[in-house]
Amino acid sequence: MSTDYDVIVIGAGNAGLAAAATLQRGGQRTLLLERHNVPGGAATTFVRGRFEFEVSLHQLGGMGGPAPLRQVLDEMDVTRRVEFIEDDQLYRTVVPGVLDVTLPADWARITEVLDSHYPGQRPALTSFLELVRDVGLWQLTARGNLHRIDAEIERLTGMKHVRRHGLRPFREVLDEFFTDERLKFVLSSYWSYNGQLPSRMSFMDFARILALFVETKPYQVVGGSQALSYGMLESFLQAGGEARFHTAVERIVTRGGRAVGVLLEDGQTVSCRVVVSNAPATTTYTRLLDPAEVPSAVLRDLGSRRMGVSATALYLGLDAPAAELGFATAANFIHTDLSEETVARGMRSLEPAPFILASCYDVKPNGCAPPGATQLNLITLQYTDPWDAVPAEEYQRAKQVYAESMLELLKTVAPGVRDVIEEAEIATPITMKRYLSQPGGAIYGFDQDVTDGWLFHDDDLKPNVPGVVLVSNWVTAGGYNSTIVTAARMCRRLLAVL
Ligand SMILES: Cc1cc2nc3c(=O)[nH]c(=O)nc-3n(C[C@H](O)[C@H](O)[C@H](O)COP(=O)(O)OP(=O)(O)OC[C@H]3O[C@@H](n4cnc5c(N)ncnc54)[C@H](O)[C@@H]3O)c2cc1C
Repeated sequence: MSTDYDVIVIGAGNAGLAAAATLQRGGQRTLLLERHNVPGGAATTFVRGRFEFEVSLHQLGGMGGPAPLRQVLDEMDVTRRVEFIEDDQLYRTVVPGVLDVTLPADWARITEVLDSHYPGQRPALTSFLELVRDVGLWQLTARGNLHRIDAEIERLTGMKHVRRHGLRPFREVLDEFFTDERLKFVLSSYWSYNGQLPSRMSFMDFARILALFVETKPYQVVGGSQALSYGMLESFLQAGGEARFHTAVERIVTRGGRAVGVLLEDGQTVSCRVVVSNAPATTTYTRLLDPAEVPSAVLRDLGSRRMGVSATALYLGLDAPAAELGFATAANFIHTDLSEETVARGMRSLEPAPFILASCYDVKPNGCAPPGATQLNLITLQYTDPWDAVPAEEYQRAKQVYAESMLELLKTVAPGVRDVIEEAEIATPITMKRYLSQPGGAIYGFDQDVTDGWLFHDDDLKPNVPGVVLVSNWVTAGGYNSTIVTAARMCRRLLAVL
């Protein structure tokens, strides 16, 4: 039977764009539908005055050398449309009066730097980082080979140390190797890229993130993440794809239990053979589809998951060069103290920000601030509950008070910032919920901690409802590398059966 399109992709976030470009370039007539007026989902920017502010991208992994994201973007013909900049350093971690350490993106040099700050740790550091590399690279490969995950798990039988440590809490493994709390703290800085504190995060998730950034180096995008989103959209359109913006999908239409099209907000129905949904898994299975058509095991599994963490962000446009303000590193993790409890409390309350990631986009300018000026984004992780509890009439004031606490913490490394603020915009988990349409304002999908994660949900990526495929950070790890690579690889496999 003829259909309007072969495939309809709901949503033009990272995963939806990668899916649409891969399918159209693979010869499938593809329609991309996005409720907003621009592509990207979280991978977007907004303009205030002379600045174009980055919403989500702090560091891009997977780009250095023959890395997974670069390969996928090459296959989609995106790399020649977008310019990428390699960061010089991995990150700087600061606890005022306690530590201030900058790590390079190189295994041997990380050992050197940490051994110079905390002497006598070289043997432990060498074996710890070898373990991180092995576990991290296994996970990165296994995730890219989800179509043959059984073989990947089989491969683990020959990797005893990966099996032994992979699913342990990251904190427990750290404690086994090191005693110096400052050294452990510096090594843990990337916990926030998974949204889980070291005691809750599985060692394999930490290893995946550190291995990704050391092996493939951290990158920035010229023009910000919006330029990357437009690059993927252009690749899709040039291959003959059709995109409609300001177009929300109301329902996935099924016949005999199989998806046959979508119903748009304006009442129009469009038919297709396969629907790829970039909407959250909960939305797709319980709102876009009739839950009665979804296997009960899938609904039970969804019911067992926890909403992931959201974020509060302060976007600053500064009328001074980055170097003058004291920034020599793009990613700066600044904490009030070494305590994990302080951070855990801060994630669930409106107490002064216990930590910020200060991302400076003008150490090597990405073109989103005017020459001589600096874009600085401060972000801290928070669940949405404490913000939901703020009465509407107090919300503006609560935002101001919270932003002040972030600026106080920033002052400890960059005292001059407050005097040169030209633009300031604050976004809370409520803002994330509203603009990103993510349940709970979650920025990485479901909480993935030591008790839960992709290895426990091998059904996520299967077509649980015939004709419906899910792509997003709700079915893989959060982050640009994961969402783009997983969606593109899944859709390449889909091409083989379409
Ligand atoms: C503040 C913040 C900081 C972050 N920092 C980093 C970082 O430094 N590095 C990193 O790698 N990752 C980072 N991330 C995570 C990363 O941005 C996300 O994991 C990723 O962008 C999610 O992509 P996605 O395609 O899964 O979903 P989304 O970006 O949420 O896209 C989903 C799209 O589907 C559309 N949609 C949904 N339902 C419908 C419908 N019914 N009809 C039509 N359209 C629909 C939405 O409008 C949206 O455009 C950050 C995220 C945030 C928010």
